[in-house]
Amino acid sequence: MEKQQVPVKKNEEITLHFEDITHEGNGVGKINGYPLFVPYALPDETAKVKVIKVKKNFAIGKLIELEKTSSERVEPPCNVYFQCGGCQLQHMSYTMQVDMKRNQVNNSLKKVGHIQDVIVHPTIGMVDPWRYRNKVQIPVAEKNGGLITGFYRKKSHEIIDEMDRCIITSEVNDRMVEAVRSIADRHGISAYDEKSHRGILRHIMVRTGEATNETMIVIVTRTAELPHKKELIKELHETYPHVKSIIHNINKERTNVILGKESKLLWGEAYIYDKIGDIKFAISGKSFYQVNPTQTKKLYDKALEYANLTGGETVIDAYCGIGTISLFLAQKAKKVYGVEIVPEAIEDAKNNAKLNQMDNVEFVVGQAEKIMPWWTAQGLKPDVIVVDPPRKGCEEALLEAMTTMQPKRIVYVSCNPSTLARDLRILEDGGYQTKQIQPVDMFPQTMHVEAVALLELKLL
Ligand code: SAH
Repeated sequence: MEKQQVPVKKNEEITLHFEDITHEGNGVGKINGYPLFVPYALPDETAKVKVIKVKKNFAIGKLIELEKTSSERVEPPCNVYFQCGGCQLQHMSYTMQVDMKRNQVNNSLKKVGHIQDVIVHPTIGMVDPWRYRNKVQIPVAEKNGGLITGFYRKKSHEIIDEMDRCIITSEVNDRMVEAVRSIADRHGISAYDEKSHRGILRHIMVRTGEATNETMIVIVTRTAELPHKKELIKELHETYPHVKSIIHNINKERTNVILGKESKLLWGEAYIYDKIGDIKFAISGKSFYQVNPTQTKKLYDKALEYANLTGGETVIDAYCGIGTISLFLAQKAKKVYGVEIVPEAIEDAKNNAKLNQMDNVEFVVGQAEKIMPWWTAQGLKPDVIVVDPPRKGCEEALLEAMTTMQPKRIVYVSCNPSTLARDLRILEDGGYQTKQIQPVDMFPQTMHVEAVALLELKLL
């Protein structure tokens, strides 16, 4: 871009043609190379746009009227889509969503990783990309003297009260949120108010195992006491026999974090169970557990395929969480070592191994980047290493530990294409070659992109 004046002014209305889309889902149109980002605009569209924010290197616009509409534009089925911040892609056909996610992986590989010639397969999408989430956490507020639940309006903390369902959440979870809301409302339990830091009910969290249909309800309050808890418990489990666990979580802090430190089991078990493939998992209120069970199975199957296990291998699963991938791998490996930083998750992982009568797994609490060199010092030589890090990717020390350990194969599960590409570059420089990458759509209607990559040790 030339160094010249910014070509637009605030509040100006212009006609803009869109060529591209950002990883947040905003349409990108350019004036003499100067980019404008406009929510809800799609590539190949032309629209009247109002400029709402002007910066030196870019501007933000608001879509006023479409003049040319993309053939990939669809009517969003959710009635609060344009107000809610939860989904970003309901106005885009599902075919375009999965194509775009594959392109994003490709672009990151080229731009960030400088990696060419890798096969990036078409994204594995969902047959029915709705109602897939097994978990919902929804804030509670008061309106006209009654309780309401709903997600926050974009960039605000005001609840959208026209929202009576969330169509990416499973129906049963939607129903359970409504059940808790209406019982609490009938008993006059107040909602928490952020501004005054008063009131009781903060959030309702519901998680249901897809394979087992067992539901856990977590009621989050500011106060140590949950009024009318006897009535709440009785009505919930008597009316809904699939409810297996009711938990009271206390969060006294002024914070956006949903769950507080203290939890009390009100009724039932502290866990619900779910199954992915042949493996059973116990999930507590605080466990990290993938939210899209249908796609998780496809993702783990792909990771297992890439690991190419024959029964004799030693495998490391770094960032193992509650041991989901570790146990999947252990079905086909001689021994699997899992490492994870959260002690409670490792407790869960150990219990999950017992639950499945698997004794060829060992779980350790710690930072993967510290435990792996320690394992090396103990003489552990893995044939395959699987990593599934958070969005920020792998620590450099961990990448170094991997290249020092020299496994034949590395399987990298990633929820962020740009850190994936950055880390693949480091692994390539350390003697590995990226063979293929499979994007899997874990979060339809949103911009999140998940992918699994296979790397092999280059033969000298
Ligand atoms: N593989 C699991 C969990 C993946 S989420 C699954 O599919 O369910 C990433 C996990 O990495 C989280 O559980 C997080 O607690 C853990 N983690 C984050 N930083 C870590 C580190 N430095 N060392 C080990 N684990 C870490």
